[in-house]
Parts: sequence; structure tokens; C-alpha cells
Amino acid sequence: MPQRIYVDGEWVPASGGAPIPVVNPATEEPFDEVPRGGPKDVARAVEAAAAALPAWSARPAAERAGLCAAVAAALGERADELTETIVNELGMPIKLTRAIQVGSPIRTFLSMPEVAAGIAFEEPMGNSVVYRDPVGVVGAITPWNYPLHQIAAKVAPALTAGCTVVLKPSEVTPLDAFVLAEVMHDVGIPAGVFNVVSGTGPEAGEALAAHPLVDMVSFTGSTRAGRRVAELAAAGVRRTALELGGKSANVLLDDLDDAAFEDAVRKGVAACYLNSGQTCSALTRLLVPRERLHDAERVAAGEAATYTPGDPRDPATRLGPLVSAVQRERVRAHLRSAAEDGATLLTGGPDAPDGLERGYYVRPTVITGVAPESRIAQEEIFGPVLVVLPYDGEDEAVRIANGTAYGLAAGVRAADPGRARRFARRLRAGQIRINDGAHNGLAPFGGYKHSGYGREYGRFGLEEFLTTTSVQL
Ligand code: NAD
Repeated sequence: MPQRIYVDGEWVPASGGAPIPVVNPATEEPFDEVPRGGPKDVARAVEAAAAALPAWSARPAAERAGLCAAVAAALGERADELTETIVNELGMPIKLTRAIQVGSPIRTFLSMPEVAAGIAFEEPMGNSVVYRDPVGVVGAITPWNYPLHQIAAKVAPALTAGCTVVLKPSEVTPLDAFVLAEVMHDVGIPAGVFNVVSGTGPEAGEALAAHPLVDMVSFTGSTRAGRRVAELAAAGVRRTALELGGKSANVLLDDLDDAAFEDAVRKGVAACYLNSGQTCSALTRLLVPRERLHDAERVAAGEAATYTPGDPRDPATRLGPLVSAVQRERVRAHLRSAAEDGATLLTGGPDAPDGLERGYYVRPTVITGVAPESRIAQEEIFGPVLVVLPYDGEDEAVRIANGTAYGLAAGVRAADPGRARRFARRLRAGQIRINDGAHNGLAPFGGYKHSGYGREYGRFGLEEFLTTTSVQL
């Protein structure tokens, strides 16, 4: 029930007007609201962050990282409440929410002592000393699809680097950010070091990206909004890091036997449908050798049909609703226009799933019979929609995989791991999974091309928030 924003260590009213309702996507009912922050609130928070910067940046990095580990522990104590909050605001199934949406940000905060220990904050170089200094005041703007995870990916390394932060969380899923602010307060993060201003993109987000005392804007969200943020930041010569959208390929090479091929297709459906397809790095294009297209279509459609959409609070549910009516309508519009363009819908489609009168549900969908250049195979859909594309030979597979405006992620499956690695090295994507390689929370995450620039997590993620000062002796 956040009535106030968190600025300079205090809960204060916002000046932007009527509060913003928070809607439960499984029931379509507003169940909470957050303050509507505007430019005045952003300015107040940025001034507090600038005032807190000298003392915070002067503390040893290990001490700042230790406080982040304390944040992790305190978040862990509130894991049940956070799970409930994120299920209600986002609609991701409860088991996955607990493991990913709550577990992952805790691990990110917890990793900070280890990550900081790997950085030489002071290094001799000939007759010089090179210092790695915090870039300054960071404006962090985050999306709704992995709300606390995306916040942690920015806030934990920024604070560890010695920066101070003003966070503008997504107005669609803002509630977890308020829990984080309470935790920051409780563990003793000093006033002004971390601030939360809730609000919309045009009202609060733009004010943050444009504020003269902000040294860096770290943005995760759509390519459209990222472009706008970068324009505003450029006017003040502010550093930006942009984590944007994707249309990632999952390439099955032609040396898989039948059982491995079938397994790869099934897992490929899972890699597309996680969080109802609302995952920036979702593998949404399944590339298969042309001679195996029919097998791929059959297995993918059969697997997709097992993803019955349902109540995210039910522990058996694997596919929850989309986050909002706007998002559901966007996905349906994509499906309608794909059908008009001649696509074959193997399963799913734009109609509401049976038996679900309420909630922003979309049928799990598999599409085939489209050219790699078609809109449905090029544009980020952000719903449970898998496109199957055949290829002739590895060169064409590389061309199709790299042939979108994006370059965020990719998957490669092959019987010969050496071949899979050689193939992976030809892909222009920021993170590539070979044969279901496990997620590594310390490996850099980020994109090529319209998927943005800058990297998050681990050492590379921390270095985004550092700059250098060299002192000649
Ligand atoms: P969005 O761009 O609509 O919103 C993201 C954030 O930006 C929100 O906080 C929003 O209020 C703010 N915003 C919107 N317009 C703005 C403006 N003009 N100025 C300043 N801020 C503005 O994106 P979304 O719908 O919340 O999230 C979905 C998108 O995020 C997808 O495209 C997805 O691929 C992308 N995403 C990328 C990553 C990644 O790491 N690459 C991770 C998660 C999500």
C-alpha cells in the first residue's frame, strides 16, 4: 500500500497528481496504487542522490558490497511477501516467481562482495596510479517483466561501485520496488544513496533521463523508450546503458538424432514461453533443418498444447496471463495480422483461451509457413508465440539467426559440442546457450544492435558504473 515515494531516506508525498492503480492481470482488478511522481519529485530525489554521493563513494567498496549482501539477506526474509506481491502485479506462476523473480535478485545482491573483490579499484601503471571511480548519480529505469530482477541488476552494482541511485520502476509492476526501499532503509543504506520515485515514463522517466545532476542513465525496456532515453541523456552528455528487446533464435543443427531433436524442440517451447513469452531473451524463433520441419511442427504444437493457461497462484500452472490488457491486445494484433499475411497457426491464435473469462490470457501459439523476413518473424511479440523457420545449410541458419534488428540472445543445439561452439561464434548475440548450458548469474548479459549496449551482472555489470581517473606521479 505505498502512499509515498522514498527520497533522502524518508517517505514523502509525490506531486504528480492522481495515484497510479496497480492491476492484477489474473483478475483484471486494481488491487493497489502507487504515487504518481513528476519532475519535481525526480529533481528532489536526484538532488538527494547528488548530496549523498561524496560520503558514499568515499566508503571502501568492500563495505558497500557488504551492505548489498545485507540487502540480500533482508530480501530473503521477505521472500514470501515478495513472491505474493510479484504474482499479484505480474501474473507469473507462483513457483517460477519464487525461484526466478525473487531468487535471482537476492543472488545478485549477494554476489556483490565476490564481484567487488575481483576489481582493482586502484592499480599502478608506470608512473601513474589508475583509480576506478564511481560514475556518479545513476538514474535507473526498469521494466515490468522481471521487475525486481531488473532493478537488482542495476542497483546492486551501482551502489557497490560507489554510485548513488534514483530508481523509477515500471508503473505496471511497481510494488516490489517499495519493498526494496524498506529493506534498504532497514539495513542502514544512508539517506539519499537509494531513492524510489514511482511514475510513468513520460512524466517521471523523461525527467530522470534529462536531469542535469544525473551522470548516467541505466535503462531496461523497449527499444522505442530506450531510444528516447538515450536522446535525452545525450543532450547532457550523460552515459547510458540500454538493455532492450530481442527476437532471439534457437538453432537446432542437423546432427541431432530423433530423440535429441524432439527433446530440443520441447525445451525450445519452454525457452519461448517462460513468463508467458514476456522475456527479453526468450528464444522465439526455432530454426530447424528443412528436412525436419514437419517433425518440429508436430512436436512443438503438441508441446505447446500442454501449456494450459491458468491461475498463477495455482502451483501446477506453467502459463499465466500477460501483464496487462494493452500487452494482450498487442499480442493478439500480431497474431491477427500474421494470419492475414498467410501464416499457419499450428496451435493457439488470437481468440481467448477456453474457460477463462477473466484475466489477460493468450493461447500458447506456434506459427509456421512464414518467411524469415515477415513481420511476425522479425518483431518482438512479447507473448507465448513461437515461430518455426526452416533453413538449408549452416550458412543460411547463420544468416536467418542474425537477420533481425536485434541481437540479445540465442540457443544452439547439436550432437557435436565443438560444432555447436563454432556455430555459436558466428552469431551476433550477447548471450548464447549451447545444449541448454546453465544460466550463469556472473556472466555478462546485454545486447548487440537494437537490443542495446552495456552489460549487466558480475564484473562486467559493475564496470558499467565505473570510470577511471589516472594520477601521474
Ligand atoms: P517500456 O519501454 O514501455 O518501459 C520500460 C520502462 O521505461 C518503464 O519504467 C517505463 O515507465 C519507462 N519509460 C517508458 N517510456 C519512457 C520515456 N519516454 N522516457 C523514460 N522512460 C520511459 O518497456 P516495458 O513494456 O516495461 O518492458 C518490455 C520491454 O523491455 C521489452 O521490449 C523487453 O524486451 C525489454 N526488456 C529488455 C531486457 C534486457 O535486459 N535486454 C530485460 C527486460 C525487458
